[in-house]
Amino acid sequence: MCYLVFAQALHDRTDRFINDALTAFSHELVAERRVAGEMDEAMRNTVEEVRFRDLHIAILDSASRVIAGEPPGDSANHTIRVIMKPVELQGRKFVLAGSFSTADIEDVLARIRRMFIVAIPLLVICAATGGSLLAKRSIEPVERSYELQRRFMADASHEMRTPTAILRTESDLTLSREHRSEGEYRASMTVMQDATRRLTRIVDDLFLLARSDAGHLRPRRESIYIEEVLHDATSAVRAVADRRSVHVALGQVVEAPFEGDEDLIGRLILNLLDNAIKHSPDGGRVDVTLSRVENTYEIAVVDGGGGIPEAARERIFERFFRVEDDHPRSEANGSADTNGAGLGLAIARRIAQLHDGDLRLVESRPGRTEFRVTLPAPRTSA
Ligand code: ADP
Repeated sequence: MCYLVFAQALHDRTDRFINDALTAFSHELVAERRVAGEMDEAMRNTVEEVRFRDLHIAILDSASRVIAGEPPGDSANHTIRVIMKPVELQGRKFVLAGSFSTADIEDVLARIRRMFIVAIPLLVICAATGGSLLAKRSIEPVERSYELQRRFMADASHEMRTPTAILRTESDLTLSREHRSEGEYRASMTVMQDATRRLTRIVDDLFLLARSDAGHLRPRRESIYIEEVLHDATSAVRAVADRRSVHVALGQVVEAPFEGDEDLIGRLILNLLDNAIKHSPDGGRVDVTLSRVENTYEIAVVDGGGGIPEAARERIFERFFRVEDDHPRSEANGSADTNGAGLGLAIARRIAQLHDGDLRLVESRPGRTEFRVTLPAPRTSA
């Protein structure tokens, strides 16, 4: 497009130049004729004297015979632009023929065309690679979130397969014989109860995370006391802890008025206590404290278990992440309830963050693991 406009402009300029030159020539011819007196001589003189670079002017009579100058025609093998201009002198009609070699113009245009031949494919290649890079960049987050979604689905269904398989085989097995003792039925129902509990827990956890992901989990903001939530939670886990003679000790606790969701904060603490008890040695001890440091409440849950391997510390808050095979005991006796799906800490941290706080692992070594929850305290303690 640019090329065509440019070429046209060059040709127009040439035409204007030839026209101007012919006009100047005809003026000169009139003047010369006055001096020379004789027409043919005046014509030859003018052709001799008025010369333009690259432009040849010839004078033809009405029968197109050349009277003076070189006739228009191809002087070499390049193109020539010819413009004819009629003139009238002393009642006789003549034609001035200006022929201009367009070799230079063609040369420039050819050079531009050659440039285009190289530049256009280059531009196309640049545009194509640039475009595909841009597309790749903008699509990358989508692909990543798609990958996360895919992994989440795969993990979730994987986690639910075990309890559903237990439910199915257990019920099939129990019903496969017509008569069973009450003891057999009870044993089987206990297994199914465990599996159902585990399934319910996974579904509840997933539901909570899904709602929170979608921004639909808005914690209630009610006036609660965190120390009361701690009391309730430690009481709730006591039975489980007793089974393994783990002592859950509620140590130093301050009065902690707070605006938040009692159920969710309770769940956060329960998840931490569950883990602490699960990883404590039999007869071990779990310490829970609640303190206030300036405008922050700090809840610490400390256990004396084996700790979390260095490499796993960043990842324990990820969904479905579990430290491999750290408690084979739970699978062995079928009490699947103690063996979580790797969602507990993800949920606990999310709850803390929903309340403008956080959950961190502050220390973990064999014999001492401490998780700490921070929550914003009101500026003036009530
Ligand atoms: P789960 O519900 O399976 O316990 P969590 O998200 O609560 O999953 O924990 C993730 C992983 O972190 C678990 O596999 C567990 O091994 C490890 N973990 C959590 N708390 C402790 C702890 N107090 N001591 C040792 N390991 C822990």
